[in-house]
Amino acid sequence: MIKEVVRVPLAVGEDLVIQRNTIGGGGKRVCVVTGTHGDELEGQYVAWRLAALLQKEPAHLRGRVDIYPALNPLGISTMTRGMPLCDLDMNRTFPGDLRGSMSEYVAAKLIEDMAGADLCIDIHASNIFLRELPQVRINVNTADTLLPLAKRLNMNLIWIHAAATVLESTLAHSLNSIGTPTLVVEMGIGMRISPEYGEQLLTGIFSLLSHLGMWDAPVMPVAPPIVSSDGAVSFVNADQPGLFFPSSHHHAHVEAGQELGVIADPLTGTVRQRLLSPATGLLFTLREYPVVYEGSLIARILGGSQ
Ligand SMILES: [Zn+2]
Repeated sequence: MIKEVVRVPLAVGEDLVIQRNTIGGGGKRVCVVTGTHGDELEGQYVAWRLAALLQKEPAHLRGRVDIYPALNPLGISTMTRGMPLCDLDMNRTFPGDLRGSMSEYVAAKLIEDMAGADLCIDIHASNIFLRELPQVRINVNTADTLLPLAKRLNMNLIWIHAAATVLESTLAHSLNSIGTPTLVVEMGIGMRISPEYGEQLLTGIFSLLSHLGMWDAPVMPVAPPIVSSDGAVSFVNADQPGLFFPSSHHHAHVEAGQELGVIADPLTGTVRQRLLSPATGLLFTLREYPVVYEGSLIARILGGSQ
């Protein structure tokens, strides 16, 4: 059943409408949320497939799944990361305010709608610059509650952030602080869809539904993820501007000192910087957009030795 979560009139005679698809009935409730950033589309595939799969076999569902495919519908339809009318990153507006500006009101209505769910899964897709292996990001303060759930989501890794790096104005932080467990998924790359990642996450979602007693058909087994803290993640940044040409593949195992790629100068035909891996481990984030500036993030490696 399609429900309107919030409607706000716009100046041009149109309305901003955020909808959810509610499948199932009473009992436990899981929210699957995506499209907060209008340039991140990986979650669109997951929302589409999840709705189809649940509606195909409704007798197996015990409880209710709410799918919110587009928290920022104007952003998605205009290929804009933020909210187009106010140029705001929507994931910096939570928990919002029912008496506040339009963006604060929208945020507050969304929190009101999702509050009390047994679990929320907030799907993101990096940005247009970096490709990410499917991962769950949780902060250390919520790890006791969230880690056992995150392990069932069939993602390649779980990155547990230190408390100091937690952003308090995100949807996930706001929901977790009011006792609604919320997992943040990051996977793929902005403005693209990677169906294999979507299918991987769908397997995880059904595994979680089964774990919560909400799905009584057999589910596929999930692969155990690598669990990591900030300390095991190494960053590689550009020291020079130019064009990044990778020489290692995303998802590869790399050795410390191995070349990840070069920053090239197309005018002179020279190499400005050779980028070497600072650690041995898994290349789980890799720059996809070739133009880089001094300081641009090129890669992240998950591994022990640094
Ligand atoms: Zn995002």
